[in-house]
Amino acid sequence: MNEKVIPIRHAGRASAPVSRHDGGKLADQLGRPMRDLRISVTDRCNFRCTYCMPRAVFDADYQFLPQAAILSFEEIARLAGVFVGFGVHKIRLTGGEPLLRKGLPKLVGMLAPLGADLTLTTNGSTLVKHARELKAAGLKRITVSLDSLDEATFRAMNDADFPVAKVLEGIGAASDAGLSPVKINMVVRRGVNDQQVVGAAAHWRGTGHVLRFIEFMDVGSTNGWRMDDVIPSAEIVRRISERFPLEPVDAGYAGEVAERWRYQDGSGEIGVISSVTQAFCRDCNRMRLSTDGSLYTCLFAQQGHDLKSLLRGGASDDDLRDTIAAVWRAREDRYSEIRTAITEEMRAREPKVEMSYIGG
Ligand code: SAM
Repeated sequence: MNEKVIPIRHAGRASAPVSRHDGGKLADQLGRPMRDLRISVTDRCNFRCTYCMPRAVFDADYQFLPQAAILSFEEIARLAGVFVGFGVHKIRLTGGEPLLRKGLPKLVGMLAPLGADLTLTTNGSTLVKHARELKAAGLKRITVSLDSLDEATFRAMNDADFPVAKVLEGIGAASDAGLSPVKINMVVRRGVNDQQVVGAAAHWRGTGHVLRFIEFMDVGSTNGWRMDDVIPSAEIVRRISERFPLEPVDAGYAGEVAERWRYQDGSGEIGVISSVTQAFCRDCNRMRLSTDGSLYTCLFAQQGHDLKSLLRGGASDDDLRDTIAAVWRAREDRYSEIRTAITEEMRAREPKVEMSYIGG
């Protein structure tokens, strides 16, 4: 690959070369490069998934961010350009529900020329309307969350009375628009939808789409997480393999979130995301930009780093680079690896930020 070298200026020092594709010398305290940026474009969602935005907390009185606090498309695109300069080569738009952000295809159009692998995670509820426009604007791929094919289970999980059929239509629209293969995320929660794991595998195998099972995580501080509710990925692979034999597939790249398995009969593959039972902090190369412009280096973080004040205070691109580089270099988080050593008291003292705000 032809590596473009982008000079990064540091105050009072000569330019340090940073490779566009490998993150150059920018490594955190554990030697991890920065490659993947998730951008939460809104903290709002039209679903109230019980494991993410429980209705009891995110109710009519909940104070979502005011418009003025939210990064504009221009601000997001400017920051994204700085990140790409550091070697970030994958950008995921997420939320909240990203397609609730008015004019989102316009942002896609502004980010596409950066040349990163540009993707989006959605609950699929408005995809029928948006799929073609997103593709035309330069979106490469899409992930749709669908926790159950069973109507009653799905409605119980999304708590928004939203039907399965509409999400399936959205997946079809994305596929027809050329955003395929579609990745389908299924969060598995014991006693809620875990009996549907094999059924979901049976439904999606052979379609070309990739079903990914996500372990129920203790993100945020409101979803009442308990270890007992987690179905380990190893169990999911075992259950599916008993009916449809699976074999492991090599990771596509270092730091890939999902562990890949393929059906031995050639009918496609699945992924498992095991952030609870097989933490992958060691390879974590992700940054998260919150809806209001704070930078988080961990999904389970308690605090972010304010970039919006810099942006709105007239910072130059060099200032932004210096700040981002300093945040990344200081990074030493590895929450999932030390989760079990964290006591309830510590959790209560410093609550984690919600996933809808920093982006799933
Ligand atoms: N609204 C979009 C959606 O539904 O995909 C994007 C945001 S959502 C926070 C991103 C992903 O995070 C979804 O696939 C969702 O299922 C997953 N997620 C949210 N809370 C989770 C939790 N506690 N454990 C595991 N996955 C979770």
